Amino acid sequence: MSAEHELEVLNPATEEVVATLPAADAADVDRAVARAAAAQRSWAFAAPADRARLLRRFADVVDTHSEELAQLEVREAGHLLGNARWEAGNARDLLLYAAGGAERLLGKQIPVPGGWNVTFQEPLGVVGVIAPWNFPMPIAAWGSFPALAAANAVVLKPAETTPLTALRLAELALEAGLPEGLFQVLPGYGHIAGRALVDHPGVAKIVFTGSTRTGREIMERCARLVKPVTLELGGKSPNIVFADADLKSAADPFSFLDNSGQDCCARTRILVQESVYDEVRELLADALSAVVVGDPADDKTQMGPLISRQQLDRVRSFVPEDAPALRGSAPDGPGFWFAPTVLTGERHDSAAACEEIFGPVAVLLPFTDEQDAVRLANDTPYGLAGSLWTRDLGRALRVSQAVRAGNLSVNSHSAVRYWTPFGGVKQSGVGRELGPDALSAFTETKNVFISTEGPAQ
Ligand code: NAD
Repeated sequence: MSAEHELEVLNPATEEVVATLPAADAADVDRAVARAAAAQRSWAFAAPADRARLLRRFADVVDTHSEELAQLEVREAGHLLGNARWEAGNARDLLLYAAGGAERLLGKQIPVPGGWNVTFQEPLGVVGVIAPWNFPMPIAAWGSFPALAAANAVVLKPAETTPLTALRLAELALEAGLPEGLFQVLPGYGHIAGRALVDHPGVAKIVFTGSTRTGREIMERCARLVKPVTLELGGKSPNIVFADADLKSAADPFSFLDNSGQDCCARTRILVQESVYDEVRELLADALSAVVVGDPADDKTQMGPLISRQQLDRVRSFVPEDAPALRGSAPDGPGFWFAPTVLTGERHDSAAACEEIFGPVAVLLPFTDEQDAVRLANDTPYGLAGSLWTRDLGRALRVSQAVRAGNLSVNSHSAVRYWTPFGGVKQSGVGRELGPDALSAFTETKNVFISTEGPAQ
């Protein structure tokens, strides 16, 4: 078999082969879309309460298999076991949350002269979801489950390196009784299966999570078919620390080390008010040296490996050996390891300060006052997330309004929650996932006017 016809899944902590799978091509995508379209027609006609009941049953089956799913995520993505357990629980909870939405897809009755006017939230049809490798299971769920609840079918293409949890979720959906063809997972290469899904006229929408470069290409290709997109792309998020803040909490390095920094919301630009810069640097130095990096299956581990050799090489390219930096430690030997690092000698326009590194590396930069902090925070093409730390309520409100990002947290490094909308502005994306309006991204509004005119009196 040629390399383009199969995928090899490696355990990033050991470099051992976990699985070898056939890779889908354009013909497989064609067949999957045809099956999905057939399944979607009956799914859309099912009573909303029945769709909701099946999705709740799917949630129960995911719950029963949550430990197995978590172990799989550890093996294919190198996630910490505790995090992977949270991720399986997140997939389950989102199913339950979305199931409720299936029964509440409300239209409107709009007062108009001469008749009644009502709107309907109708499904789009077949939705294509393309997922990245950094959070394989949650991101597959965020794109797919609200779409299913809104009476669509889903064809999901997971990342080349991490297809296993998504494949297992599709098996569990069948076990729960979801119709054959309604939720299909096609492992394959981006430029083959991903592109075929994007270009397919039978796919009504693409939900893509990944790099800004690929997202831009997908948006261009979708434009030719006037196909809507949701794009969740890259980030270079700020962590703004004012002098009056709780500095120890603000300097928590897990604001950028979670998932070894392979997190689109990682706060990788630590902007610190000049007067407390030295204090924050000391706090970070102590915290970094205490981070336990190693076997992700060990309960004591706080940070695991990077996903691949390629990612390791990329991260290394931003951190010359002699760069002024605060550093933690990392294991030697097999596996894709990189020590937690904060670069201290960067200019705010250097590559490390501007580009998404997607590893356990942040830059530490001083600012003078509130205006300067906002200017630096916004001086990026990205706008995904950010934190700001201050005890001054007025300033917290002003800066939250002034920073251009889809998701901000004040006095917290909070992560994504399924109850609240998530997405980016500028080159971090288009559209929102999750939250109370998640299903509306997967419906079209149909307007129907019913004349009440009778025969002339
Ligand atoms: P990537 O863009 O290389 O790949 C993402 C997915 O797109 C994979 O499934 C890949 O196979 C597929 N793909 C690649 N080329 C394609 C093409 N031409 N047509 C269709 N599909 C194609 O990204 P990645 O390296 O897997 O993920 C890392 C990136 O994802 C980072 O930039 C990160 O910030 C971003 N990300 C964003 C969010 C968010 O919600 N904003 C969340 C997680 C990750």
